[in-house]
Amino acid sequence: MEKKVIQIVGSITVDELASALGLSVTFLIGELFKNGIVATINQRLDFDTAQIIIDELGLKNVELKRKNTSATLDNNVKHELSDRATPRPPVVAVMGHVDHGKTTLLDTLLHKKTADKEAGGITQHISAYELKYNDRSITFLDTPGHEAFAAIRQHGAMLTDIVIIVVAADDGVKPQTIEAINFAKSANAKIIVAINKIDREGADVNRTMSDLVNNGLTPEEWGGDTTMVPISAKLGTNLDKLLDMILLTADIEELKADCDIPAEGLVIESHLETGKGSVVNLLVTGGELKTGEFIVAGETYGKVRTMIDFKGRPKGKATPSTPVTVTGFKSLPNFGDRFEEAPDEKTARKIALLNAQKDANLTASANVTSTDLLRMMNTADSAKVFNVIIKADVLGSVTSVVDSLKMIDTKGLISLNIVATGVGDVSENDIYMAAGGETIIYGFNIDIPVNIAKIAARDGVKVKLFKVIYELLDDAKHEMEALLPAEIVETELGEMKVKGVFRSDKTSIIAGGEVLKGKCKSGDLVKVMRNKVELGEAELTSVQKERQDVPELIAGEIGGIALKTEHKIALELDDRLVFFSRNSVHQTL
Ligand code: GDP
Repeated sequence: MEKKVIQIVGSITVDELASALGLSVTFLIGELFKNGIVATINQRLDFDTAQIIIDELGLKNVELKRKNTSATLDNNVKHELSDRATPRPPVVAVMGHVDHGKTTLLDTLLHKKTADKEAGGITQHISAYELKYNDRSITFLDTPGHEAFAAIRQHGAMLTDIVIIVVAADDGVKPQTIEAINFAKSANAKIIVAINKIDREGADVNRTMSDLVNNGLTPEEWGGDTTMVPISAKLGTNLDKLLDMILLTADIEELKADCDIPAEGLVIESHLETGKGSVVNLLVTGGELKTGEFIVAGETYGKVRTMIDFKGRPKGKATPSTPVTVTGFKSLPNFGDRFEEAPDEKTARKIALLNAQKDANLTASANVTSTDLLRMMNTADSAKVFNVIIKADVLGSVTSVVDSLKMIDTKGLISLNIVATGVGDVSENDIYMAAGGETIIYGFNIDIPVNIAKIAARDGVKVKLFKVIYELLDDAKHEMEALLPAEIVETELGEMKVKGVFRSDKTSIIAGGEVLKGKCKSGDLVKVMRNKVELGEAELTSVQKERQDVPELIAGEIGGIALKTEHKIALELDDRLVFFSRNSVHQTL
């Protein structure tokens, strides 16, 4: 049979897929519905989702093909360098486990005082600095330090030539150290390990090195190929050696860029500022960016109105590896978007529009990805839906919160439904969207104006604001748990063998027996068992030993008991009474 080939550029709408398959849209929507996806006709499905649906439908004669998106859409695209390419500064990211000294290292290197204490110890946004050393430049990316910011770090890692992994010599390799190693490897970045806090008592450089060997990094002095520099970020010990190693690595890597091509690079942070509009941090990776030029990033574009360096000084021209902050974008570009220079406004607008049409993945929240689909498919029919609206101060945080929420393992019991996301304070519109839908609004690093809070209270909408991501995630987890039906848990407390039956009427039994294991006390629930078959349930109303009421009988003791039953149970010698408690507990995730 001849195969029908469907080409997918990034994603495909339900409507397009239906017509490509020769199916009616309603049929396809119905199929999606069966798989737990409430889709609209314009909903975009990514490649893998479309493939899963086709497999589900058993359409063996259909072949899906990924059509490469244009370079403007692919953040990973690195231009082939021309022979005119010139050396550029290395882009270095500092990563590692929390509290191992990343911030201190950057502070000491850049002679800066940590201006604002990070909320909850997390660096919220990626930022970049330029360091001059021996007449050369090194660009440092300040990458956020918690797994919840995996998304940001992934983007950060993509930019980096060299990752400095900071490991505290008195603590050794920790989960985030391993994560950082993995990121660096996946980003194809060179790794330099800074073994920090060597001034501390308890610091053990050798032990830290063997820890690292166990995680795939062998120091050069032990015959491996990873540069490791013992340092004290706090005292500044050996930092020049670390910088020498960075430059040496950069030289070996022959890092170069073309300067005579249209400027391009990545968006590393973006937020709105009153009076300035969108304020966007860019890292130039090729060409030279100048004020007055038109640039496009994802679905937005603009003219570079102002450009300043990381110290806030005006900059007329930014060369490769330089981080700058620009204003002039019409709307906020996404964190991690590639930006490029356009010859004029018309072209810029056109590219942005094309990107908007083609690159559906960037508007992921409105789309269905295969992960979503698989999650939904694996989610039991009885799964509860957890509806949320996410608001944050900058787009990077929105992405991180959303990604982190998706990472919560709900064991298939909860399906996360992100109703909407956005940048800025909680608005009236958010409340309207949330009202009546059992939707919680989570705000990260934002506020809610008093009048909006009143509307929320009136409409019974839960608005929860956080400055620390872990707290937000913990809260979301608790809210999800609250959606789960309580689970009944029975705990066995003891067992008795019946040795005498004194009375057994419709609702009560008086008997004697020996406790074989555990213990029993009045109030316990009782299962009456005969040859391992349950005859019924009862409640233990009193316990006696040598005809005296006692609080409990323990294993090995013989005593008398009174049971209350709902129906008559004709107790016999040798029946077993199993004592137990029954509690309803809230399920946890
Ligand atoms: P981060 O979470 O990785 O950014 O870690 P920080 O830079 O905030 O450092 C965590 C703690 O370790 C702070 O109290 C620092 O003062 C301390 N610290 C960092 N580097 C050193 C060092 O080289 N020696 C000593 N003694 N303390 C350090």
